[in-house]
Amino acid sequence: MTWQNWAGTASADPARRAWPRSTEEIGQAITAAAKDGLTVRALGSGHSFTPAAATSGVALDLSSWAGVVGADLDSGLVTVRSGTTIRELNATLDTLGLAMANLGDIDAQTLSGAVSTGTHGTGADLGGIATQVAGLELVLADGSVVSCSADDNSDLFSAARVSVGALGVLSTVTLQCVPAFSLAADERPMALEEVLARFGEFAAGNDHFEFYWFPYGKNALVKRNNRVDGAGAPDAMPGWRRFLEYEVMENAAFGALCRTGRAVPATIKPLNRLAAATLSKRSYSARSHEVFVTPRRVRFVESEYAVPRESLLDVLTELRAGVARLADPVMFPVEVRVAAGDDIWLSTAYGRESAYVAIHQYVGLPYADYFRLFESIATSVGGRPHWGKMHTRDAAYLSGAYPRFADFLQIRDSLDPSRLFANAYLKQVFGD
Ligand SMILES: Cc1cc2nc3c(=O)[nH]c(=O)nc-3n(C[C@H](O)[C@H](O)[C@H](O)COP(=O)(O)OP(=O)(O)OC[C@H]3O[C@@H](n4cnc5c(N)ncnc54)[C@H](O)[C@@H]3O)c2cc1C
Repeated sequence: MTWQNWAGTASADPARRAWPRSTEEIGQAITAAAKDGLTVRALGSGHSFTPAAATSGVALDLSSWAGVVGADLDSGLVTVRSGTTIRELNATLDTLGLAMANLGDIDAQTLSGAVSTGTHGTGADLGGIATQVAGLELVLADGSVVSCSADDNSDLFSAARVSVGALGVLSTVTLQCVPAFSLAADERPMALEEVLARFGEFAAGNDHFEFYWFPYGKNALVKRNNRVDGAGAPDAMPGWRRFLEYEVMENAAFGALCRTGRAVPATIKPLNRLAAATLSKRSYSARSHEVFVTPRRVRFVESEYAVPRESLLDVLTELRAGVARLADPVMFPVEVRVAAGDDIWLSTAYGRESAYVAIHQYVGLPYADYFRLFESIATSVGGRPHWGKMHTRDAAYLSGAYPRFADFLQIRDSLDPSRLFANAYLKQVFGD
């Protein structure tokens, strides 16, 4: 059966699929593939825009290998099977009185897919999901099982947290969780000029700051989420209002605008200005994961680069000027987020305070020139592409972008010399 990703940008016909239900069965599927001369890729939820999970060999579907294995409520350490989705994880953590300190925009991904590609949210003092990992269990090319953490196999831990499935198949992930918390969300339109002028202030002054900018509009939508202890928090958003704001306005109505724009491209710029002009203010409080995560039902394609935080304003200035000159107009907003530097060798925020710039286009609309323009701007400041979002960088570029790239490749050579876990995408980004 053909495998396809969420955005429809990657597909593959695996020689066969396996649905392991234990670490032992993951090992058996791997050794059986090796015996048959087939490569192996683990499947997450298919939410990468890159063909990271695509394989013509054995596709390991880990959806039957889900759930929490154990939790220590005192330390907040929670061990999770690798096929667990972030949605399932959030629900279980809720019942335990725990939460993830930071999350991305959606919860459909598997935990292991999100960790493996460096999936992140926003927060100037916080890292991505992989920085919340305290330990991993990995099934290697010979079927053996190895564990790693900061104290145990520490180099493997530095390499394996973000490794795009190149070192083996994650069987469990141990997370350092935090006590459950609520966030006060404040979302409001603001003139883009003001957002850019106050970018440093907003990034430093909020737990989670981000903004969306419609390329032809004057306004940005600024989102600031801050932890609350209950007292003085804004009210929860009633269910009907949440439905209206997120399902109707952000999905159904925006989807209708996108379809109109795709049918009549001349309307895209005015529709884009309309979308920017009709942004509305909202503030509410809710459990952290309910604020971090929003439904994304309108399909799009996406590229995202992490750039040094001090380069952000230059990148956006160039992007604004370039977008105005594009022959094909852009329907979707640009999203800007921030993250602290971390110590994971292939994390897009390795060793530097980062700003993330994500560009999107509605499915079916031309995007190649736009993405090429963006990539040339982002790479001119040493940008690092998200491992799960569209880009054209190869191992030669990436070896210059990541100081520990050669160390990562050395570990890969020692763990998978015959490239059992290879596919075309890994060949592109890591070389042969
Ligand atoms: C609508 C949408 C919103 C998104 N929002 C964000 C966001 O806010 N922030 C962000 O950073 N990214 C975001 N992304 C990107 C997404 O988080 C990543 O691409 C993520 O990897 C998808 O997880 P997945 O489970 O679908 O993994 P897949 O895409 O299926 O796989 C990703 C990689 O992980 C590997 N893998 C999966 N499971 C294992 C395992 N057990 N062991 C070893 N390797 C494994 C796969 O082989 C593949 O190489 C978004 C994507 C979409 C479509």
